[in-house]
Amino acid sequence: MLGKTFGCCRFLYNHMLSDRKLADIEGRSERPRPAMYKKEYPWLKEVDSLALCNVQLHLETAYKNHKERKDAGYPRFKRKHDSRCSYTTNVVNGNIRLEENVKKIRLPKVGSVRIKVHRDIPEEGKLKSVTVVREASGKYYASLLYEMPERENQAKGDKADEKVLGIDFAMRGLAVFSDGSRADYPGYYRETEKRLAREQRKLSRCEKGSRNYVKQKKRVAVLHEKVRNQRKDFLHKLSRSLADEYDAVGVEDIDMRAMSRSLHFGKSVMDNGYGMFRTMLGYKLEEQGRILVKADRFFPSSKKCSVCGKIKEDLALSERKYRCSCGNEMDRDVNAAINLRAEARKRISA
Ligand SMILES: [Zn+2]
Repeated sequence: MLGKTFGCCRFLYNHMLSDRKLADIEGRSERPRPAMYKKEYPWLKEVDSLALCNVQLHLETAYKNHKERKDAGYPRFKRKHDSRCSYTTNVVNGNIRLEENVKKIRLPKVGSVRIKVHRDIPEEGKLKSVTVVREASGKYYASLLYEMPERENQAKGDKADEKVLGIDFAMRGLAVFSDGSRADYPGYYRETEKRLAREQRKLSRCEKGSRNYVKQKKRVAVLHEKVRNQRKDFLHKLSRSLADEYDAVGVEDIDMRAMSRSLHFGKSVMDNGYGMFRTMLGYKLEEQGRILVKADRFFPSSKKCSVCGKIKEDLALSERKYRCSCGNEMDRDVNAAINLRAEARKRISA
């Protein structure tokens, strides 16, 4: 039933997208709705109807993103052999619930499914929706969205006592902190990355479509998922410990996409996970009434001397050490992190 639901959602998405495209060309403003397709394709009624409603919302989001965000392309058709499938369904009148001491989840049209719980289920939260995913590795996941009662913000103490940290993006490793320490992925993560690269090379040597190719592709997908999970796990833990310790954190306002394009660092910057780390840190701080201060896009965090404030216009990317005429000599990234901390402190006390 899960496989069927993925299929129906994909089918509906593609039909709605194609009809929407046609309507746009012909200048009609009417929008396709799932009900219109159920007459012609009655088997759509066999799956969870709320999953189909969400398809319409997803398509609208895709169009909205395309219109409002520069980096979002025109909505594309979903392919049957796309490695990842998913559908989202909503809670209506208790149709979705956890059963038998959270050992099972009941989903519409699917029934009770045995589950392994990875996270604590919030007691005071209200279950709103569930997204079911089948990863390329063949594993199934359900993510549960809970609505939580609003939490009280922590009382603010004296501004001068607030603990503030500056973080600069590091090309090697992950990040550099204003206290001079660095954060980098643990060794086991790098090991999995290397193993993934090895298996990917093997895949490229397999004859496409052969039995070995299919087998190897699965192996790569499993490793991909492992790398992704290890990275997320590490970034969640790191951002959690920082959000618990500091009242405010200063970071650069950088567009990771533009950065990787313009500097030709390509994959390494994108895959480094720094953007994901910043997002996690941002909401974790916010949850506790603390803040992530993004320095202005034109704030010269690298060029400014963190001791005397002089600006070094001709700082080359290859200069790893920041040297100033005032005698300040320190690691370039640490200098930038200190500037970002100062900027954050200025912002929160303003
Ligand atoms: Zn100086």
